[in-house]
Amino acid sequence: MTAASIPVSNRIKRWLGHIDDRQSPSFHTWQERVFSEVGAFLSANHLDPTPDNYDLAFQYRAAQNVVLVNAIRTELDSKGILTVDAADRIFAANAGPVSADALAHIAAEIGTHVDGLSSIAKQSDHDAATFRTALEANIAGGAPDAVAVMDLTLSMVARTRAAEAGLRKSTRELAGLRAHLAEAQHFADVDPLTELANRRAFKRELEREIVGCRAHGKPLSLAFCDIDHFKRLNDLHGHETGDRVLRFVAQLMAKQFARKGTVGRFGGEEFVVMFPGLAPEAAGHAVDRCRVALADLPLYAATTGDRIGSVTFTAGVTMLEENETMADILRRADELLYRGKAAGRNRILVG
Ligand code: GH3
Ligand code: MG
Ligand code: MG
Repeated sequence: MTAASIPVSNRIKRWLGHIDDRQSPSFHTWQERVFSEVGAFLSANHLDPTPDNYDLAFQYRAAQNVVLVNAIRTELDSKGILTVDAADRIFAANAGPVSADALAHIAAEIGTHVDGLSSIAKQSDHDAATFRTALEANIAGGAPDAVAVMDLTLSMVARTRAAEAGLRKSTRELAGLRAHLAEAQHFADVDPLTELANRRAFKRELEREIVGCRAHGKPLSLAFCDIDHFKRLNDLHGHETGDRVLRFVAQLMAKQFARKGTVGRFGGEEFVVMFPGLAPEAAGHAVDRCRVALADLPLYAATTGDRIGSVTFTAGVTMLEENETMADILRRADELLYRGKAAGRNRILVG
């Protein structure tokens, strides 16, 4: 696939900072330009082109993760270069609380316990069969030896006790692992700043709702919302206040849409809402009510008391059509959002 044939999402373009291809005639597409910049960053810092380093360089270029960008800037300012160790440290610190390694470790431990349980079951089965055969052999003669039967029974009781103790130990440890797994699943699905579903969890749920709504012949609408001029808010009031605003908007949306839809944080200052069973006009009204509710609230910075003023967002709302995929509906909502931004922001476009 050539760079030019890769479908370009407006959202990714915006995310990467309003790249205008006309400004750089030496590059045919914005993809080539991003690729070149990511490559130049790796090369300037003598970093190998590993997947993690690519990811780090891309995230730095996208400037979306403030913590990551600041950590890299601090390194560059103090040392003039991002060393391999610093790159690894920053990548690990931003990789999220659930690493593939941690999950692999839990899976391996569960595997060990399942193996242990299965060998206890096999041993118990074998012991019971041996006991039965020995007992039958003793009884078969017509005059069972009471002492031999007693010995057999005592040995069986001892073996059963050992098996019970093994089962109890494994059950206890499995319960602990189950709690770890539930915690890991929570971290994997929830955005730590806003506590909304993260992009991955939202998309999984959306895929599920698409199947459900199709099966029941119900409509499904989706809203793509993006806070207006959020960079300016950060620049004026600082990132901590920016984070508080994100949490506030997330809570407001979760409350406003609680009965009709599900909200997720798609990334940065972008929120998505799915409305199973709702036509786009009704979903658009719900989103517009939320827009007005937010815009009507004058916000103040908690730390300084400075007036932030009103915060607004723009959204694109659309409905899943027959034969469409999740990617189709997300792309159309994003296009409507993009048009709403171009038309002056602080508005909802339904299409
Ligand atoms: P527009 O109206 O076109 O959407 O303008 P904008 O400034 O909102 O959009 P832009 O994409 O230029 O900037 C988004 C900003 O959001 C840049 C980034 O620093 C900030 N941001 C992203 N994630 C976070 C976060 O978790 N916390 C804070 N405080 N800022 C964030
Ligand atoms: Mg944005
Ligand atoms: Mg924005």
